[in-house]
Amino acid sequence: MTKTIEVRNPRTGKFDYVIIPPPPRLLAQQCNRARRAQSRWQELGVEGRITTLQQWKQAILSRREQLTEALVNDTGRLSITVLEIDSFLASIDRWCGLAPELLQTSAKNTSIPFIALQQSLVPYPLVGVISPWNFPLTLSMIDTIPALLAGCAVVVKPSEIAPRFVAPLLMALNTVPELRDVLIFVEGGGETGANLINYVDFVCFTGSVATGREVAETAARRFIPAYLELGGKDPAIVLESANLELATSAILWGAVVNTGQSCLSIERIYVAESKFEEFYHQLIAKAHRLQLAYPLVEDGAIGPIIAEKQAGIINDHILDAVEKGAVIHCGGKVEELGGGWWCRPTVMTNVNHSMKVMTEETFGPIMPVMPFPDVEEAVYLANDTIYGLSAAVFAGSEDEALKVARQLNAGAISINDAALTAMMHEGEKNAFNFSGLGGSRVGAAGLKRFLRKQAFLIKTNSTSDPWWFDKGD
Ligand code: NAD
Repeated sequence: MTKTIEVRNPRTGKFDYVIIPPPPRLLAQQCNRARRAQSRWQELGVEGRITTLQQWKQAILSRREQLTEALVNDTGRLSITVLEIDSFLASIDRWCGLAPELLQTSAKNTSIPFIALQQSLVPYPLVGVISPWNFPLTLSMIDTIPALLAGCAVVVKPSEIAPRFVAPLLMALNTVPELRDVLIFVEGGGETGANLINYVDFVCFTGSVATGREVAETAARRFIPAYLELGGKDPAIVLESANLELATSAILWGAVVNTGQSCLSIERIYVAESKFEEFYHQLIAKAHRLQLAYPLVEDGAIGPIIAEKQAGIINDHILDAVEKGAVIHCGGKVEELGGGWWCRPTVMTNVNHSMKVMTEETFGPIMPVMPFPDVEEAVYLANDTIYGLSAAVFAGSEDEALKVARQLNAGAISINDAALTAMMHEGEKNAFNFSGLGGSRVGAAGLKRFLRKQAFLIKTNSTSDPWWFDKGD
């Protein structure tokens, strides 16, 4: 018998929603359905797929209110939800604009005069997308839209912690018959995610390193590509010449937006010794101004901690740091309010790399600040991690910042700003170290990875090739 999964509301702590994972046989049937429909989807051509996705977008727009409500219940936050929906809709337009050129192929001359070459791009038939809870809509759609435009069918398995947004998307999907069979959502937890990998030709996974490793292992056994976007412990380096007013504002945003529940959050801050005191005092003053979005969702910028397990991790990291001598200047505890878990922006000093807060992913609004004596030490500390997602460097000049940035092991580095990869979509990047595996999901590569290259080698004359056995010797 299938076990239902009860879903907790992050604001009230109540389990007020239920999902029903498909039994393995039904999951297999759903995947087969998508696989069968894929060839029709591919034959529709890129223009046909664009028209269909635009129809879905219109259908979503007319259900925007339901989608907003569902996402607010999933995440307990409002302003980020509005941003999330806007950027998802914009991403449909952006990919629709790029796809025709990215899918173009042309005949080419070859080094052999009587052999012509035609290149073709063949989509992987069925892509599986497994996504986390921190940006439920964005991260379930970030790979899905380019995969669909490439001509793949997609089965999405969103997180069991924030699954309510699927219902309004499905309502919209049901009005677009061409898309309904090639875009399938399945509800469920880890077991369903693990099972899904057995039926697809390509997997896009966003989540923790621990799960990513399992996904990669299964994909390797099945010989299918796995694109993994995993955790981070992003550092910010503030050099002596940096504009502190700008650095503190940018770092506060990068560390605390979405209550720090973002893979590319700034999670550790290294400041030149001479500017250390001034920096953290400014940061504390700015952190104090931020309010919790409580009791009303409109009240402030800091929403609840979405996943209950994360509240435990944040608490553990704070306690571990304090036990080892960290000094808390503001925030500093996980509080229960109205049944939800909350944490105010927390600035701490007297920190070092023996503490979890400096080495493990916290995923909360915690800003540990550590002084460095020279640039060499700053680079060493920033690179002293198993992760390598992104980073930030602040300096008086772009050149000075870039000189340091080039020494960092991370896929994207914001200069005199923080977490810029969340806001722009052009810069292709790889996740370094344990932060991921596979090519860039951003930029043109984000769509091209769903296409296999096929070559047609065409003989254009009717005489013997010089390398055949026809010469008689
Ligand atoms: P998670 O690994 O616990 O779960 C992610 C997804 O995997 C969920 O849908 C879950 O049901 C599914 N899953 C669980 N076990 C599975 C298995 N054995 N096989 C297949 N699927 C399985 O991660 P989470 O707690 O939901 O998300 C938080 C993590 O995601 C953080 O580490 C964060 O840094 C990371 N993240 C990374 C990015 C990025 O782009 N690099 C973006 C957002 C979040």
